[in-house]
Parts: sequence; C-alpha cells; structure tokens
Amino acid sequence: MVKFDYDLFVIGGGSGGVRAARLAAGLGVRTAIAEEYRFGGTCVIRGCVPKKLFVYASELGHAIDDARGYGWTTAGKRFDWKTLIANKDAEIERLGKLYSSGVEKAGGTVFHDRAEVVGPHQVKLAGQARTLSAERILIATGGHPFIPEIPGREHSITSNEAFHLDALPEKIVIVGAGYIAVEFACIFHGLGVEVELLYRGGEILRGFDHDLRHALAEIMTAQGIKITYNTEPAAIEKAGDRLSVITTRDTRIACGTIMFATGRRPNTIGLGLQKLGVKCGWNGRVMVDDWYRSSVPSIYAVGDVTDRVNLTPVAIRDGVAFIEANYKNNPKPVDLAYLPTAVFSQPEIGTVGYTEEHAREMFRAVDIYKSSFRPLKNTLSGRPERTLMKLVVDAETDKVVGAHILGPDAAEMAQLIAISLKLGARKADFDATIALHPTAAEELVTMREKWQPAG
Ligand SMILES: Cc1cc2nc3c(=O)[nH]c(=O)nc-3n(C[C@H](O)[C@H](O)[C@H](O)COP(=O)(O)OP(=O)(O)OC[C@H]3O[C@@H](n4cnc5c(N)ncnc54)[C@H](O)[C@@H]3O)c2cc1C
Repeated sequence: MVKFDYDLFVIGGGSGGVRAARLAAGLGVRTAIAEEYRFGGTCVIRGCVPKKLFVYASELGHAIDDARGYGWTTAGKRFDWKTLIANKDAEIERLGKLYSSGVEKAGGTVFHDRAEVVGPHQVKLAGQARTLSAERILIATGGHPFIPEIPGREHSITSNEAFHLDALPEKIVIVGAGYIAVEFACIFHGLGVEVELLYRGGEILRGFDHDLRHALAEIMTAQGIKITYNTEPAAIEKAGDRLSVITTRDTRIACGTIMFATGRRPNTIGLGLQKLGVKCGWNGRVMVDDWYRSSVPSIYAVGDVTDRVNLTPVAIRDGVAFIEANYKNNPKPVDLAYLPTAVFSQPEIGTVGYTEEHAREMFRAVDIYKSSFRPLKNTLSGRPERTLMKLVVDAETDKVVGAHILGPDAAEMAQLIAISLKLGARKADFDATIALHPTAAEELVTMREKWQPAG
C-alpha cells in the first residue's frame, strides 16, 4: 500500500535540488519538487551564470582597448546596458526552463510554489493551501544575501538586484571584499562605472593565497578601482536619487548605488524546520550528517542551505551523493579535497589546494615556486598587468599541494591542475611534463628555482 503521496519531495529548484530530483525521478522514485521563484536557483538566475555573462561584457571593453596595439581601429566604443540585460535575461530564461523540464522529462512533478515543512513527512504548498506527504523531504533552499542592520539599508542593493538595474550608476560603492564583491567591482569598472570598494578588513579575498590577494588588489587599484580598507558603512542617506554612505570613520561618500556583498545566510526562515526540531546552526543552516540527514530522520538537506562549501558544483555533488546513499545503496561522502575555485576578477584568479599560509600550518616543510611575468598577449596591447603563478609543495613528499594563478584564463588552468593534484602529482611530475609553447600555462611546468624570502 502506498503510504505517502511521494517518495521524495524536494524543496528548492536550484543546482542541488534539481539534480537530486531529476536523478530520483529517473530511477522511478516518485518525486516532486517545488520552487518559489524561478527554476535554476541562484547559480542560473542570479549567480554564476549571469555574473559570468557580465564578466564577459566587462572584459570585452578592455579587449577593445587592447586591440589597438594589435592594429585595430576601434573608434566609437559604446556600451548599452539595456542590451546586455535583455540578452542575459533571454539566456537565463532558456536555461531556467531546461531545469524544470529536465525533472518533468525524468517523470517528476513540478510545483511553481513556495513549500514549507509542516510535519516530518508533510509539506505545505503555500500558494495552493495544500498539504502533501512524502517519505523523505529534501531541503535545497539555498541562501540569500545578508545586509547589516544599519540606518538606510533599504536604499542599498545586493547581487540579486545588480542583475536587474534599470541603468548603470555613475558611481557605485560596493561593501565587502569576498569574491562576489571583487567580481562585481571589476564588472562595473569595466563597464565604465566609478567603483569604490569598502572593506572592514585590511586585505581583499580572505582565505585566498596572500600573494594573489595582494597582487590583485594592486592591479585593481592601478586600473582605477578605489579600495578603502578598515572602513564600514555606518548609515546610508538618500536625497533625491543621490545616495551617501556615512562610514565608521565619519567620512561621507556620494554615489548612485550602494551594493552590499557582505555574506549570505541559508534560506530557512519560515520553513517550519525549527518547530519540528530540525537542528539548525547559528545562522539558520541545516545541520546534516555525511549522508545529508538532519536531526529529523525523514528530513535531509543539500547545498548552500547547509552552509558548508557554497559553490554550485558542490551543491550538485551533494544532490548526487544524497541519491546514491538513499536510493542506490552506494553511500559515499563528497570528497572536497583539491576543490578548484575561481574569482572572476579582471584578471581572474584560479586556485586549487593549500595556500602557502595554510600549507605552512599543515606540513612540516613547504617549498614555494613562484613566477611573475607579463603575458605575451599584454605586450603589444600595452597592458601592464603581470600574471602570477605559484606552486606550493610539501617538501617531504614532493607533492604539489597548492596551485594559485592570477592572470588571464587562470580559472580554466585551475580546473585542469586540480586533476593532477587529486592524483597526487609531485613537483618532479610537473617538471617532467613538456611545456606547451607559447602559452602562459607552460610556466607551471618550467618553474625550477625554489622561492627564497628576501634577506
Ligand atoms: C553573485 C553570485 C555569484 C556566484 N558565483 C558562483 C560561481 O562563479 N561559481 C560557483 O560555483 N558558485 C557561485 N555562486 C554560488 C552558487 O550560486 C550556489 O552555491 C549554488 O547556486 C547553490 O545551489 P543550491 O541548490 O544549494 O541553492 P540555490 O541555487 O540557491 O537554489 C535554491 C532554490 O530554492 C528556492 N527556494 C527557497 N526557499 C524555498 C521554499 N520555501 N519553497 C520553494 N522554493 C524555495 C530558491 O528560490 C532557489 O531557487 C554564486 C553565488 C552568487 C550569489
């Protein structure tokens, strides 16, 4: 006898939820998924994908300037924000549809509605005042941007709204210095907006290798992005369509837009989890074990709502691992070692493995190999920016445990180096690999001299 309406009810149609729902439905598991906003979730609708499209738009502006040194005449450069937004929206619409139709084609049921958990096996669809039951409930509700409680915060935007601005401001103040803040600073700068980054700390991109953090901040500053450290907004004032940020240093910065990129919080407010005794962290994240099970055995969670590593490929892997463990009798925790990551700054950062600082804490002896050079492409263009590459090696085993790149195509390189690091490649293996010339990546296999600190 069928006891529940569904075997699996997934709440949230983003990267993790859709992957889990599609796989489950494909296995014949009676699956439903509810999405309250748009299928595709943060990554597709207001994260990775539209952001990367903005990065391309922004970089093309630099490329037009660079083309002059290569003989091109590029007079009359103009940019139209509305065209970019319209084209981006059309692409996002297309991708979003693929997400929901993928679940339907696999045999799942799709609800365009907000869902809340009202029992260990019960889900209420808010728009339809309807309660459905499921043997398992998977929470994949992602997160939302966090704005600090300061007077005037309602006049500010977050990355969500940055994707839909009616027009570009003359000047934007971006608060924060994580990857989203840095990426948007470079995007807006490349599109001709005056940018000021306000950061309460002393260096951008906490958690990344210090050499890259330092080098990127120098490049951004040289490009004309103002970075103000050890400063936070204390209040925001609005007069007409002009905004002023009053800082904790009592300075006043006038601008047209203020964007907060000051972290994200898991989407669990009003979801009904606490009432059921689902254990959540200080910020509302759902606490789960290695098999994505919460403290209520029929309720599971994957992706950003668990606030572990908040990246799309991790949410997807979580979704896959949840299915493997619960429907294929193949429990295997997701291995996050040597997870490659990028910052799509301009130039970009691609990185995998231990930073130098972290490696020095974890290994008895560490060798560092570094190279800083002007990429060939930047010669005729006159672009002064240098590429920085760095390998971090465990001196006892000769294993390369970290690779960090700042420069064009760094993210593409990091994805491939991650395979070598995952396979345990040693520095000797890098040295034995023949260079591909002329590329920037060849530098990764031609660094011979250990870096020695000055003095
Ligand atoms: C600006 C920005 C840039 C980013 N860039 C990158 C990048 O370059 N690379 C990368 O790997 N990651 C990036 N990320 C992170 C990435 O987008 C997330 O890690 C990923 O989308 C998480 O997937 P998820 O399935 O956990 O949640 P989400 O994709 O956020 O999906 C959750 C879904 O649940 C829905 N939902 C919430 N509550 C309910 C409810 N009660 N009922 C029904 N539906 C609900 C939401 O509307 C949402 O669609 C970026 C994020 C942002 C904000």
